Amino acid sequence: MDKYITATISGAAVRHNLALLREQIGNKVKLYPVVKADCYGHGLELLLDVIAEFADGLCVANPAMAMRLRRLGYNGSILTFFSACSYMGNKQKLFIAELISADITQTVVDVQEADTINKVALELGVEAKIHLKIDTGMGRSGCLISDVVGVIDVINKSNGLELTGVYSHFSSADEVEISVTEKQLSLFKETVAKSDIGNDIMLHIANSAATIRFPAAHLDMVRPGLAVYGYHTCVESEKLLPLKPCMRVTAPIIQIKDVSAGTSCGYGLTFTFNKDSRIGRIPVGYGDGYPRRLSNKAIVRIKGKDAPLRGRVSMDQLIIDLTDIPDVIVGDEVEIISDDRLKLNSVENLARLAGTISYEVTCCFGGKRVERVVGD
Ligand SMILES: *Cc1c(COP(=O)(O)O)cnc(C)c1O
Repeated sequence: MDKYITATISGAAVRHNLALLREQIGNKVKLYPVVKADCYGHGLELLLDVIAEFADGLCVANPAMAMRLRRLGYNGSILTFFSACSYMGNKQKLFIAELISADITQTVVDVQEADTINKVALELGVEAKIHLKIDTGMGRSGCLISDVVGVIDVINKSNGLELTGVYSHFSSADEVEISVTEKQLSLFKETVAKSDIGNDIMLHIANSAATIRFPAAHLDMVRPGLAVYGYHTCVESEKLLPLKPCMRVTAPIIQIKDVSAGTSCGYGLTFTFNKDSRIGRIPVGYGDGYPRRLSNKAIVRIKGKDAPLRGRVSMDQLIIDLTDIPDVIVGDEVEIISDDRLKLNSVENLARLAGTISYEVTCCFGGKRVERVVGD
């Protein structure tokens, strides 16, 4: 092991979370966990088998990751949130062909994408599976409500396309205020009801928050991401489902020293000890994905106690206060991220302290300097 930092990933926790999500949606609704961004930074290779066990299919953002899933031997259904039309130049056609041949379902957002994929499919002499994404208010990807009829008309006339799903995405399913979500859901249902699509088309709109909070949004399938890995996207959903965080991050203490009152530490000398103190140095920094915004705010845990960060987080190291924790020696293990959501160094609490979201915290720890090992 040549890396200082270890992320222990628990397959048992992910299994627990998927079982809870399955219970939540019942047996008729399809479960398509989102494994984009390398399973939100936790590592696709470590978790694929566990997730595949529970999944009716998988969702990824970009087509390259869909191909990676195939290379890893996953042969279930895969939906990519971007089509290969998002690749430019002469790579585009090749890649679209590759995805079609690998039976990967691409998302289409407009007539141009539908046409492009249709042409490639016709050349291959096959039908390409696609899902149409509708923008019901997120204002990001998807076709406008006013364009839906036209796009579906083009798709229906394209012999190279097989429309197997229509979906949308919530902008605010994790907000206390639920009116935006209700509006998006009813707009989606209305739009679909008015469209000329077949009966066996899969309709879906629910991310983690909606899967947990709004059963009415389950429709034919759900696309939970963050919840699979054990984190809640909002306080409201915390009360509803006892998810288990799947990641614990540790690193050793590499130096301990006693400093006298009045000593300051770290870049900019932003912290000054007001009494004689003992400090420890840990080889973890923002270069590893530890948020610099946690400087002087967060804690790490050692021997079951909280040790506060002192001074700014550097690129490769941080300083902690060991004054009140006796008997710590160099080499002792420090817990950077706890898999217990009640601890101050849980993903959710660190995200709150850093003014960000759990998604960013776990994705940032997806870097190369973190050794991933399988836990229980
Ligand atoms: C990321 C993503 C999801 C999953 O969202 P979570 O909040 O992690 O559950 C679902 N659908 C789409 C389109 C996404 O981009």
